[in-house]
Amino acid sequence: MNLISEMITNKKVPQRTCVVCRQVGGKRGLQRFVRTPEGGVSPDSTGKAPGRGAYLCREPACLNGALKGNQLEYVLKVRLGSEDRETLRAAIAEMLKEQSSV
Ligand SMILES: [Zn+2]
Repeated sequence: MNLISEMITNKKVPQRTCVVCRQVGGKRGLQRFVRTPEGGVSPDSTGKAPGRGAYLCREPACLNGALKGNQLEYVLKVRLGSEDRETLRAAIAEMLKEQSSV
């Protein structure tokens, strides 16, 4: 059984899939990220922002993985400049900090 190719070919899968590890759901749930009007990417804290969204596990491995790779850019069809990337990095660092303090 090949779950990954199944998820790629079936675009109407209702589950949210982490763009880094391709896991559905994730232990702590998924965080939605959206493209901002300015062409950057930011976490969607409400989960209801309009537009294209990408999901990441609330796990340091996946969040940091997304920063190192270009999965978010690919899924959201944006090109992050160094400033946009820095903003996203800060937002993710903030998320991770909040998690570890809970
Ligand atoms: Zn993940």
